[in-house]
Amino acid sequence: MSKNSLPSGLEFRQSVDHMVDRAIAVMDLDKGIANAIKACTSVLQVTFPVEIKGKIEMFTGWRAVHSIHRLPSKGGIRYAHSVDQHEVEALAALMTYKCAIVDVPFGGSKGGLYIDPNQYTRDELQDITRRFTRELAKKGFLSPATNVPAPDVGTGQREMAWIADTYKHLYPEDVNHVACVTGKPVEHGGIRGRTEATGRGIQFALQEFFRHPEEVKAAGMSGSIEGKQIIIQGLGNVGYHSGKFLSEEDGAKIIAVIEHDGAIVNPDGIHIEELRFYLNDHQGVKGFAGGKYIEDGSSVLEMKCDILIPAALEGVIHKDNAGNIKANLIAEAANGPITFEGDRILRSNGVKVLPDAYVNAGGVVVSYFEWIRNLTHLRFGRLERRFDEAKGNCIVHALNEMTGKNVPEHIKHNLAHGADEFDLVRSGLDDSMRLSLQEIIDTYNRDEKIEDYRTAAYVIALSKVSRSYLDIGIF
Ligand code: GLU
Repeated sequence: MSKNSLPSGLEFRQSVDHMVDRAIAVMDLDKGIANAIKACTSVLQVTFPVEIKGKIEMFTGWRAVHSIHRLPSKGGIRYAHSVDQHEVEALAALMTYKCAIVDVPFGGSKGGLYIDPNQYTRDELQDITRRFTRELAKKGFLSPATNVPAPDVGTGQREMAWIADTYKHLYPEDVNHVACVTGKPVEHGGIRGRTEATGRGIQFALQEFFRHPEEVKAAGMSGSIEGKQIIIQGLGNVGYHSGKFLSEEDGAKIIAVIEHDGAIVNPDGIHIEELRFYLNDHQGVKGFAGGKYIEDGSSVLEMKCDILIPAALEGVIHKDNAGNIKANLIAEAANGPITFEGDRILRSNGVKVLPDAYVNAGGVVVSYFEWIRNLTHLRFGRLERRFDEAKGNCIVHALNEMTGKNVPEHIKHNLAHGADEFDLVRSGLDDSMRLSLQEIIDTYNRDEKIEDYRTAAYVIALSKVSRSYLDIGIF
C-alpha cells in the first residue's frame, strides 16, 4: 500500500481477521467454532439501472450478513467509492463484534453502494436509494426482523427516511415496517439523540477511560480530559460531535482537525462549531481563520498530542506512518482506521488504542433503542415522565415542610425533572459505554497474554458469540 492511499477492501478484511485471530490465539476456543464465527454468512451483490438526466446509469451495491446468531443483523449502509464486497464483509464482521461488546442483541451486517453521492442531486439520490431498497427487500436483505440498516459514511437521516418509506409501500401489512431501518429523522420514527450518538459514545468512552487512573498512567497521561490536546481526523458527523462535546463539555483542546483538503492547527484550541460551519460553506478547511492551514493533512496525524481521534475511513494509520504517531492514546472513531501492521507498531511503541468495535459503538447502541421504540410504538418516557415529575415535586414539598427552608432552585429543578426520551437515550448510552469499557479493562488486566484493549474486546465478543453457538448448536 502506498503511503497516502487507503487499503483495498481485501486488505481491510484481512486486517480485521488477523486482529480477531490474535484474540482466538489467547482463548481456549474450539477451532471449528472460531471458524464458524469468523465466516461471513451471506453476501448479496446487486446491479441495477436508474435513469439520471435522461440517461440510464448502472449502480452496484452489496449487503453482507456476517452473523445471524441474533436477529436482526444490524449495520449501516455506506455510499462511497471505497465500497466493494470485501469492504462490506470487513465492516459486517466488525458489526458482529461491536454488538457483542456493548451487549446489543443483534447479528452483524453492512451494506454499501459504489457511488460518489456528491455527484448527484437530491432527487437522483432518492431514486437510487429507493431502487437499492427494493433490491434489498425483494432479496431478503431488509426487514425489521432480519436485517436492519442504518446510516454510515455518505448516508444519513434523509436516506434512512427514503428506505423506511419504500419498505412501507412494499409491505404495508407489516405493522413494524418503521423498524426496518434506524437512524431515521425523529418525525419519521427516529429517536432523539441518534444523530450525535456515535460522537456522544466516544465522549462517554473517554470519560470512562479517565475514571481509571492506572490505565491513564499507563498511557503516559494523568488527570481528566480537561486540558488534554486532541487531534481529530475527519469532521463528518462522528468527528464533529465528539470534538464538540469533548471541547465544550469536558474542556479538552482540539489542537488540530484534518480534512480532505488539509488541516487546521491551533495550539490554543479550535472552535469546532465554527470550523464545521466553515467546512459546510466552503467544502474544505482552507482559509478558515481560527487556525493555521497545513496542506499536507496526513503529516498532522504525526503531531504530538494526548489523544488522536481518527474519524474518517479505514487504514489511515498503517505500517509506513504508525512509527511516527506521537499520540498517547488513539480512540478509533472510524471503523478500521488502523491496519493490522500499524496496530503492531503502535503497540510496540506503547501507544494505547481504544478499538473501533468498542469506541464507536454508540451509534448501534442508540439504533437498538430506536428499534425497540419502533417495535413498542411508544416514545420512551411517554408514560412515566409526568408521574416522575409529580413525585419529584412531592419530595421538594416534603423537604420544604420538614426543614422549614426552601430547596434551592437548581436542586429543585433536578429533583422534579421527569426524564424524557433524550435523557433516557443518553443515560442508556452512557451506561453501555461505561460497562463495556470496565469489562474490557478487567479482561485486559486479568490475562497477561492479552496485550492490548483490542484483543481484550475481541476476547469478550468471541466468548459471547461462541456461547450462543454452543448453547443453540450448529444446524
Ligand atoms: N454505521 C454505524 C456503525 O458502523 C451504525 C450501525 C447501526 O446503527 O446499525 O456502527
